[in-house]
Amino acid sequence: MPAANGRVYFSDLRTDRMEIIERGAAGAGRLAVIGGLHGDEPAGERIVRRLAEALPTPEAAAGSGTVQLIVANEPALEAGVRYTDTDLNRAFPGDADSDEYERALAPRIVDAVDGADAVLAIHTSHSVPPPFAIYSDLSPSVRRTVTALGVDYVLDAGSLRGTTLDSVVPHTVSVEVGRQGSQQAVEFGLEATRGFLRAHGALADAPPAYRSVRVVEGIEEVPKGGGEPRVNYANFEPMPEGAVFASDDTYTHRVDEDGIVPVLASEHGYDEIFGLYGRLRGTVEPPADADD
Ligand SMILES: [Zn+2]
Repeated sequence: MPAANGRVYFSDLRTDRMEIIERGAAGAGRLAVIGGLHGDEPAGERIVRRLAEALPTPEAAAGSGTVQLIVANEPALEAGVRYTDTDLNRAFPGDADSDEYERALAPRIVDAVDGADAVLAIHTSHSVPPPFAIYSDLSPSVRRTVTALGVDYVLDAGSLRGTTLDSVVPHTVSVEVGRQGSQQAVEFGLEATRGFLRAHGALADAPPAYRSVRVVEGIEEVPKGGGEPRVNYANFEPMPEGAVFASDDTYTHRVDEDGIVPVLASEHGYDEIFGLYGRLRGTVEPPADADD
């Protein structure tokens, strides 16, 4: 769907579709905001469309920079499903020749944001608040993003899967903005994305606001078996040694050391996992040029 103004690139090679709306910036950087990597998380697309209305066209903007606003997985969004063939955020870097829709779409997204100074991918989950960020590699750009989103926690996923967008595209941060389908997630995510745009100089309506963010190092996924799942601890809640994080008919997941915290913990959010184990490991501090 072309926007009312500004340039729109509509890709329809094979069955691959993706909408990229290009907007201008107050500064010089090249940024990208991606919504709808998962089709059952409508907040990202709504945030992208709100920004498309609010930001100036490249011609009307004060700076030479650009903000690419991307609606990634349109068929899945239309169908209201996480994916049509395979989980897009487990399919990077992808394969242009794949018969699986998302696997073929993935390299098109990578190409679109190639060379960007900073990329933000918006997600929601079945898990409980608080919102948090995820990175795989802490570049200076990623530090700037993570400390400008208004989140208190960030997951360092560098030792987890290598098939997510943030593990493949440099300077990418994923943000979990809240519960799937909630208005609160849209509002938080919109404010977090404005924080991202301010931090990287694209939005000059207010100075960027940075904060120190606690880092949780991702350790491993916690598998699910069969039967009724039970989760006993909330995200980022420290679990004492010996505590049972989660259980079902197959598993009783007891933590064997102090200081482990759950991330993306949920009973019904994922078919295969209860969530992740993480370990609190220091903080990410705002960039050196931030005033506080
Ligand atoms: Zn998602």
